[in-house]
Amino acid sequence: MLDNAGPRSLMKIYCACGKIVDLDRKEMNLKKSLKKDLECPACRNARISREIDFLNGVSDKGIPIEEG
Ligand SMILES: [Zn+2]
Repeated sequence: MLDNAGPRSLMKIYCACGKIVDLDRKEMNLKKSLKKDLECPACRNARISREIDFLNGVSDKGIPIEEG
């Protein structure tokens, strides 16, 4: 495993969309420990807006959703 310790602690991640991006190592390790997919900022934003749309759609039907 490559470990290039730079001024900022970054790690390269290979996103499902095919992009290779440098992201904060601490944040990525946290995500990995939470069993979350590592993704580039573009995919993250797209996913979040899809989730918001989904939650809005569900709450229109009166089903309470809580995260937590
Ligand atoms: Zn991506």
